[in-house]
Amino acid sequence: MATSILSLQDFLSRDSNGLSYSTFFCPYCGQTHQVPIGEMRVGHLVEEIPHSLERILQHPPRKVQILFDRAIEEIIVEGVIRPLRQNGLNLSLLPAGQKGVLLDSETELGNQLALAVDDDTEILIGAGSGVICDLTKWVATRTHRPFLILGTAPSMNAYTSITATMTENDVKTSVLLNPADAVFLDVDIMVNAPMEMIHAGVGDLAARSICNADWKLSQFIRGGYFCPLPYEMTAENERQVHASARGIAHRDPRAITFLGEAILKSGLSMTILNGETSPSSGAEHVISHFWDLLTHTRHLPKNLHGTQVGVGTIIMLAFYEYMRKIDPGKIDPRQVVRHRPPVEDLLRENQVRYGKAAPIFNEVVKTKYLSDDALIDRIRWVQDHWEHLWNAVAPYAPSLASIREPLRQAGMPMSLSSVHRSKEDAIEALIKGPQYRSRYTLLDLAWEMGLFPEAAEAVLEMAGVLD
Ligand SMILES: [Zn+2]
Ligand SMILES: [Zn+2]
Repeated sequence: MATSILSLQDFLSRDSNGLSYSTFFCPYCGQTHQVPIGEMRVGHLVEEIPHSLERILQHPPRKVQILFDRAIEEIIVEGVIRPLRQNGLNLSLLPAGQKGVLLDSETELGNQLALAVDDDTEILIGAGSGVICDLTKWVATRTHRPFLILGTAPSMNAYTSITATMTENDVKTSVLLNPADAVFLDVDIMVNAPMEMIHAGVGDLAARSICNADWKLSQFIRGGYFCPLPYEMTAENERQVHASARGIAHRDPRAITFLGEAILKSGLSMTILNGETSPSSGAEHVISHFWDLLTHTRHLPKNLHGTQVGVGTIIMLAFYEYMRKIDPGKIDPRQVVRHRPPVEDLLRENQVRYGKAAPIFNEVVKTKYLSDDALIDRIRWVQDHWEHLWNAVAPYAPSLASIREPLRQAGMPMSLSSVHRSKEDAIEALIKGPQYRSRYTLLDLAWEMGLFPEAAEAVLEMAGVLD
């Protein structure tokens, strides 16, 4: 593959397809960022698939297999399989799941599908949204096949990501897999996607306003790597999506196209960091992952990933505003140490609450729980650097109002009841979520400063998610 080397201005001004196979020497972080994907497009694209497959294989495809979810079989047959076969493509089917069942990207299912790939299949198409995208990456990586993703809903940002969220023994983990050779988001199909899936995409993108602030916060307090490029490279896309929020609510093709391009770019913002998900996943994703766990441990209803992330983002935007207003000087580090539960109590409590998943919590607790002296030092350091901290984080932390208003215009569900979660589920996510994920976020800082459980209630009020 030929790669082009870009300047900063050039890199930031290109759309996702313009970044195809590009290399960028980053003036911010000193690293080399690469885009390993050939084609990334939003438009009327089904008929262009055969040409794209030929470009990838460098000869006309002899045998292609298409992976899809039986839950949307008619849409895929009508919108994709029939036109491709009419085009003369030798296409056999690789269906997953069944009608009326919400499919999950289980590794076991992925392995079964990999076994069902025919020996003479040269290339795979994954036609669907989040779960099919993740499963196709898994199957293609395991069977060493190139693949094209045809996105059918603008519901999440992983199409152009080199990671996938896979579930094994009820636990979701992010795994590094081969990138797609081409990603097509078909507008004709996407405008007819269920509105809740369109909203989910808006919700997943909204995470940008929390996760980069969390990432910067983590670097400021604990050191480590940070690069502002992912935040910058998605700025214009966010502006376009927010400006066309009303159009999204009405399935306006232009607005859906903006949303699709924003989704491609957002995935790339993780891909250029070799799968580091920090620029697209902060505390709002911690909340969402914790709520996902409750579907297994307490059989709460499942929601779309992006829908939960959207609600989580609103809560965390309120949390940033809450934290900005506290007076850190009023916190007595010794009292925080005296009042916090001993680590043994936390480990026992997690065992009782989360059963099979408790070891994951407890591993995180053991790494995050500071010794008394270290915690006192941490709090004092944060107190001394309070204004510096907020100056560092401010460029990545927009106001609650500036994000909530466009989401409202897009018709997004933003209450806990819209994701079938109670106030208690939300408080638990804020306090226990950080013990389930190793990532350091504002929630960890709040815990270290002894602000829970009071902060949790106050933040939910501020966020306006309780009605
Ligand atoms: Zn960089
Ligand atoms: Zn996400």
